[in-house]
Amino acid sequence: MTSTDIKSMNLQEVTEVCKSLGLPSYRAGQIYKWLQQVGVSDYDEMTNLPKDLRNKLKEQYPIHGCEVELKRASKIDETVKYLFKLYDGNYIESVLMKYKYGYTLCISSQVGCKMGCMFCASTKSGCVRNLNPGEMVGQIHTAQRDSGVRVSHVVMMGMGEPLDNFDNAMKFLSLVGDENGLNIGMRNISLSTCGIVPRIYELMEKELQITLSVSLHAPENELRSSIMPVNKKYPLALLMKACRDYTEKTSRRISFEYAMVANQNDTPECAVMLAKLCKGMLCHVNLIPANEIEESSHKRSSEKTLNEFCNILRSRGINVTVRRSLGSDIDASCGQLRSRHEKQNSDGRK
Ligand code: SAH
Repeated sequence: MTSTDIKSMNLQEVTEVCKSLGLPSYRAGQIYKWLQQVGVSDYDEMTNLPKDLRNKLKEQYPIHGCEVELKRASKIDETVKYLFKLYDGNYIESVLMKYKYGYTLCISSQVGCKMGCMFCASTKSGCVRNLNPGEMVGQIHTAQRDSGVRVSHVVMMGMGEPLDNFDNAMKFLSLVGDENGLNIGMRNISLSTCGIVPRIYELMEKELQITLSVSLHAPENELRSSIMPVNKKYPLALLMKACRDYTEKTSRRISFEYAMVANQNDTPECAVMLAKLCKGMLCHVNLIPANEIEESSHKRSSEKTLNEFCNILRSRGINVTVRRSLGSDIDASCGQLRSRHEKQNSDGRK
């Protein structure tokens, strides 16, 4: 956090700012609520502050939110995909999805990603920078204001690896859960990781009630390393031990994500191995038909293969679901809109 990034500050830090400006302490509560609860992106919207104070804050503590650059709404369901522009001209993506229980926003944690997973569009041009906590809550504020709905659930499954931006991700969780802010309960939040083992241990020490999702995608090391380079550093035995320890420490069920890629990880042998790996664990397997992207030649598994894979797991007592594919007409899986937008912009400049 830079010291002037006011949208990333908690109430105590905003109080320090107010003190340093010689303001009465009640101003901190007012400013904090405007920033975190209402989610304004301009001090002029803080109508209970005097104009000269608004101008001073504008100069010294500019608000770094996100602006809607592009938006695509699905005609099939109510999914909306946003391309947001950050204060420094970088782009990130969020996806708003409607479920029976409310609206879920899938948010990004980094501009790009350095993890290099084979089928993922977000990682193709590496990690540009971490998002700060204010830019993570900012995605929720902007999506809410643009759509007019209240976001009740958040999944950190957009661009980036949240555990590779650990401190900012933790600060984000404390801001988003604050009763003077968006007040979204930890049980309504999921964090997805490719499996950075030491950070999983750090996370469990915090004993948060969030749901941890782990992107597994393969049940044995050789295959997993070929799909996900992170596996070379933290192979399956270490990852699965960390997951077991996590469930024991937090009593929270882990969700394993498994993107089904045709002829790679979707064989019956893989299903049997996966069932063995998960046996006896407090977990749930989420099978996702892999989205096909321009930058990779992989194909998604057929419906039949997916169902057979699912049945093998189920018959072995594994808790498994196939993820409903939302927004399939708008490239709703993260990274695709940004990479396309950047390509178009650079083609335009040529
Ligand atoms: N870095 C984190 C979170 C971001 S990715 C992680 O790895 O979990 C969110 C999920 O989408 C991950 O499970 C990721 O593997 C999956 N994903 C990425 N590209 C995909 C694609 N083309 N098709 C299906 N799932 C994909």
